[in-house]
Amino acid sequence: MSRIKREELYVNLNLNVRGLEPSVTLAINEKCNQLKKEGRPVYKFGLGQSPFPVPEHVVEALKAHAHEKAYLPVKGLPELRKAVADFNCRLHKIGCTEDDVLIGPGSKELIFLLQLVYYGDLIIPTPSWVSYSPQARIIGRHVDWVHTTGENNWRLSPEKLDLICRTDPKRPRIVILNYPSNPTGCTYPLERLKLLAQVARKYRVILISDEIYGLTHHTGQHVSIARYYPEGTIISSGLSKWCGAGGWRLGTFTFPPNLDWLLHAMASVASETFTSTSAPIQYAAVEAFKENPAMDEYLHITRKILRILAKYLMNRLTHMKVTAPYPQGAFYLFPDFSYYRQKLVAKGILTSGELCNKLLLDTGVAILPGADFGRQTEELSARIAYVDFNGEEAIRAAKSTSFEHNHNDEFIKKYCPNIVEGFDRLEQWLNDL
Ligand code: PLP
Repeated sequence: MSRIKREELYVNLNLNVRGLEPSVTLAINEKCNQLKKEGRPVYKFGLGQSPFPVPEHVVEALKAHAHEKAYLPVKGLPELRKAVADFNCRLHKIGCTEDDVLIGPGSKELIFLLQLVYYGDLIIPTPSWVSYSPQARIIGRHVDWVHTTGENNWRLSPEKLDLICRTDPKRPRIVILNYPSNPTGCTYPLERLKLLAQVARKYRVILISDEIYGLTHHTGQHVSIARYYPEGTIISSGLSKWCGAGGWRLGTFTFPPNLDWLLHAMASVASETFTSTSAPIQYAAVEAFKENPAMDEYLHITRKILRILAKYLMNRLTHMKVTAPYPQGAFYLFPDFSYYRQKLVAKGILTSGELCNKLLLDTGVAILPGADFGRQTEELSARIAYVDFNGEEAIRAAKSTSFEHNHNDEFIKKYCPNIVEGFDRLEQWLNDL
């Protein structure tokens, strides 16, 4: 058969492929790399990757276990499951054992698996992390977006959740609550958590509490909603953010004992797909979840750096007349550029996507449009990930810096120069509109 004939046979086969785009955060990263290759300055505020290195004692543990080569149990290394359970008891004051823990290659995969095995609608607030809704779409689940407002710090309101659930009270549903939030950095006051827990209990929803940024709370005061809705909450976490190990791909789900059937269902699918998470990584992760003064110090210092950065950057945004909720955790800001709407419209910029594209082309500052997080396209919101600095150097310097005095700006200028320069460029761009 000729080559042409052979190729003809394959024409139109691509119509059978699901029409999905690659994850937007990864796409912007590739765009930045391309600009860099062309020799243009780039300020990488797009990809939400921790700027900090993996703590040394955890790296040492990985080295020590590099020889581990056997497949591990599908649900995870028993020693790690125990370490995660102990971590949850210690941190969240909830009763759980290793039997309640499932380990996976990233919490993203676990969130996907849960949606695959549980036939329920997905309820998520806008704005929400970019991957929840595409995952639901891949599986064919219905997504209910719950609108939130800037005045309310973009938080899910118990009343709105109730409104959605009451339309069909018995319908199976998964609600994802993520705090500190990607993309806003905001968290939930205890009173709000308690009210949300009441609504979740009333409709018996499966609540995924995505606490991947829990330990990055800038003052270490993260509280899990599992305390108030223990019977229906699955705590989702992992090494990616607070331990700086996104590329290690290790995520954890902690179930209430009454939802063990869900854990088993997910483990069945895991056994037919990824089998188990990388063995050396699981052994090393045991050290990350164990109580350890080295980890306490690492968290203390990294939070401090994020806290002073948040303060500095919020001051700068306010000066630019750009509003954003004050972040209490993680490494994100969610600014709103509405103040500049008229000037932007005059330049043909009508949507958050157009704003981010033009900003990137004109200045090299890469941020993600609010539309990628479920906001209306014409809302001029965006996410800034303030991670473009050398975290290792910053940690080293922070250990010998007293942050109680007014030298924080000096520290930031010295150790986070790309962030400062990126903000200078953003300010200049807005001034020049
Ligand atoms: N949840 C949120 C809110 C995130 O921002 C991310 C990663 O960016 C994840 C979950 C997935 O993390 P991982 O799969 O690395 O555990």
